[in-house]
Parts: sequence; C-alpha cells; structure tokens
Amino acid sequence: MDNRSDLLDEQLLNDVGNIARVTSTDGKVASYIPELSRMSAELFSLSCQPVGAKMIEIGDVGQFFTMQSLSKIISLAFAIEKFGRENVFRHAGMEASADSFNSLMRIEMTSSKPSNPFMNAGAIAVCSLICKAYKSEALDRVTDFLRLLTGEYNGFDEKVFLSEKNSADRNRALAYFMKSMGLLHGDVEEILDLYFTLCSLRCTSGTLARTAAVIASGGRSAASGEKVIEKETVCTLLGLMSTCGLYNESGEFAVRVGLPGKSGVSGGIMAVVPGRMGIGVFSPALDAKGNSVAGIRALELLSEKLDLRGIGI
Ligand code: GLN
Repeated sequence: MDNRSDLLDEQLLNDVGNIARVTSTDGKVASYIPELSRMSAELFSLSCQPVGAKMIEIGDVGQFFTMQSLSKIISLAFAIEKFGRENVFRHAGMEASADSFNSLMRIEMTSSKPSNPFMNAGAIAVCSLICKAYKSEALDRVTDFLRLLTGEYNGFDEKVFLSEKNSADRNRALAYFMKSMGLLHGDVEEILDLYFTLCSLRCTSGTLARTAAVIASGGRSAASGEKVIEKETVCTLLGLMSTCGLYNESGEFAVRVGLPGKSGVSGGIMAVVPGRMGIGVFSPALDAKGNSVAGIRALELLSEKLDLRGIGI
C-alpha cells in the first residue's frame, strides 16, 4: 500500500471538507436528547493529528460539542487499564450487533450481557464497574484519564447533561432491566449520572483526533509524548472500533472508509490510522443509524485520497 500521508495538508482537508459538508443536508440533527437539536447542521470541522507531527485542521475548529458515545472509548480504555480486559468483558461482550445503539431487545431475548461496550447497555455496564470501584470519585478519575490521554479537559455541558437525564426513558429502562437480570450492580441512578456526564463531556474535532492519535501511536499521548495506555488496551480498542464502532453501520463504514472508527450522536466521529494518525470530524446531521452523514463522507474521501482504506482492519 502506498504511503501517501505526505499529501496531507490544509488544502487537501479543505477540498475534502468542501465536498463532504454539503452532504449534511441528507441528515438530521439528533433531537431525542432535546438540547442536541440546538446545534446548527451547517457546522463542520476536520482535524488530523499525525503521529509525531503537528495537528492540521480546517472548518469550525474550536467548536465545542458533546462526546456522547465517543466517550465510550474513554470509559472503556479507562476500565481496561484499571480492571484488566478479562474483568471488563465479563460485563459486556465483544460481538458486533445488528441492533441500534439503544436497543433493548437482545438483552431481553438472550438474558445475557450486552453485546459490546459501545452499545448503550454495554457502556452503562462499564460505568457500573467504574462507579463500584471509585464511588464518588468515579467522574474525576475518568476526566483525569481523559486529560492524560489528550492533554485537555473542557468540562461538561450541563444543559445537555440535564436534557439527557430528563428524557432518558430508554436508557433508564435498559439500566433497570439489566439490574433486574443481575447484569448491573449498585445504584442505577448513580451509574446513569456517570454515563450521562461522560456523554456530555465537551470536546472539539481536535480532541477526537488527539484521542485517536493515542491509539494510532500504540498508546502515546500526542500532547505529552508519554506512554499513557498499554498495547493490550490499544489492540482491544482497535478490534472493537473496527467491528462495532458505528453500531449497525459498522460494516458499511468498514467498506467505505476502511479504518477503525467510533461515532457519537452529537455528530462527531474519530478514526484511527494505525502508526500514522488520528482523525476527528464533526458535522451534526445524522443518518438513520445515528452517524454523521458528512463525517462519514469526509473520512471516505480522505481515506481514498491518502490510500488509507484497510489499514488496521
Ligand atoms: N447519550 C447518548 C445515548 O445514550 C449516546 C448515544 C450515541 O452517541 N450513539 O443515547
């Protein structure tokens, strides 16, 4: 495979951005968490953090949005580092699922643990592990970890947090149901508060690129150069991102973009080019499966232009 990474510059990102951003009219900004619907569908930013080089970014850089499911990368990495892979995957599986991210069906049908930690049910199970171990310090521990990885912590969006907390009938149903099956331990509302707060952590496409670059570099922070996560954690994240990162659109993403990725309903997507760079993209309009339309298009174009398809998956 050619290494065309030297073609990466601001001009290329602008070209990609100009083609991709117009496709956002095919999508819709999420509204099931009411506060998310206030985000303008026209926003777009694209950030690339090459391993060992300076960040290159274009568009509405510096525009904050909330991590939503992108935070599942942070909570999962934290849990594997602290409790070990085996312990974590006792509470959530490693299998892709053809269900939507907030599906209840499979758990009831099989009475077994959630398919994987990127489904809401799996991420809530990971939060329950973290709550059990760190109690009232749980949130601070995870945000310290985010700072270690990316060199930044931008607080959380209280309006989005409250908006989700007050409209989370489905996640609440999932969590109480899991508790009734013995799949969740501890106080459900405390666990959900941690989950909603992590979903409402503020970030930019740059934050996503820096997080993805930690994975791309085999566990080093782009901000400090220090080794911050183990190879075991890196490989687990890559495996799950390749197979489950975009829920029931993971297969299509693998074919069109060909890189390990993770999305969130705020419209962010991170993608990893192992050994080369981390990419973050943001455009709030989503397709029917809850993934950013222009975000996927931008990654597809970038992957094509730099010949990245198939690296790491
Ligand atoms: N907070 C959102 C939820 O639980 C996260 C989902 C997502 O980003 N896909 O529904």
